[in-house]
Amino acid sequence: MNIKVLMLGTGTPRLRPHRCGSSSLIQIGGDSILIDCGYGSARRMAENGINLHDVQRLLFTHHHYDHNVDYPSFVLHGRSGRETPLNVYGPIGTEKLSSDLFVTGGFTIDLNNRLSADINRGTILSGVQDIDAGFTLEGDTWKLTAERADHFTVGGNFTLCYRIDTDDGSIVFSGDTIPCDGIRTLAKGADVLVHEVFWQPLQGVDGRRPFTKEDATEELYTASRRTKHSLPEEVKTIAHEAGVKRLVLTHLFSDEHLDELQGYMQQGVECEVVLGEDHMRFEVG
Ligand SMILES: [Zn+2]
Ligand SMILES: [Zn+2]
Repeated sequence: MNIKVLMLGTGTPRLRPHRCGSSSLIQIGGDSILIDCGYGSARRMAENGINLHDVQRLLFTHHHYDHNVDYPSFVLHGRSGRETPLNVYGPIGTEKLSSDLFVTGGFTIDLNNRLSADINRGTILSGVQDIDAGFTLEGDTWKLTAERADHFTVGGNFTLCYRIDTDDGSIVFSGDTIPCDGIRTLAKGADVLVHEVFWQPLQGVDGRRPFTKEDATEELYTASRRTKHSLPEEVKTIAHEAGVKRLVLTHLFSDEHLDELQGYMQQGVECEVVLGEDHMRFEVG
């Protein structure tokens, strides 16, 4: 079974009209899986003719707002016409976020007012589960696997990356991360790797583009370590060593000099390098 991918959001915490927050929709046969739900995700689905109520699974990579702030919009706008259950998974905090939004606070007033007593709230949000590395989820024709990524978090929070396999192909989503065993493990031999990249509008040393640690100013490099985002050089190494066939760059902080970024990433690697864009569609397998 082939995997259809729709990139809904390829942006960052910086609000920009043409790049919504991180979100990707995966369709395999009749199954729809949403990876992250950053700002504008629900609108992007509507713009692309996707019925929100047809999405059965949402998986969060982590709980930064550029990856989850559209969660209530997706759930609430998608309640109308929902006949299939919606199950939500993500790292620690997913259950609490869901409870805060839909059960004990947040949008509870609206839900209590809007829902008649004979409508089961479970038809809106059927199950929510905090998950960790090693978690798997299976459909009839696919299997999803989670590993830990390495991104800045505090207080016991953590981030996840995901891989989906079918008989015909595989795709990996890095979420936000610096190079780590989790993403290396999942990316190995994958057909497509959708990976974040730390691409800033700022120039590096002597006006060079900040592709590598050596190109980046100390300030830029320090920022990439503090926030735990991958430099272009690091993403390239991950993709190359994993032997992926296609690398899709996402989570782009800047739109400046993207042609140079693509040129650098493509140089010396066999995989096809693609710059992610909102509304982009592609198939795997
Ligand atoms: Zn992010
Ligand atoms: Zn993040």
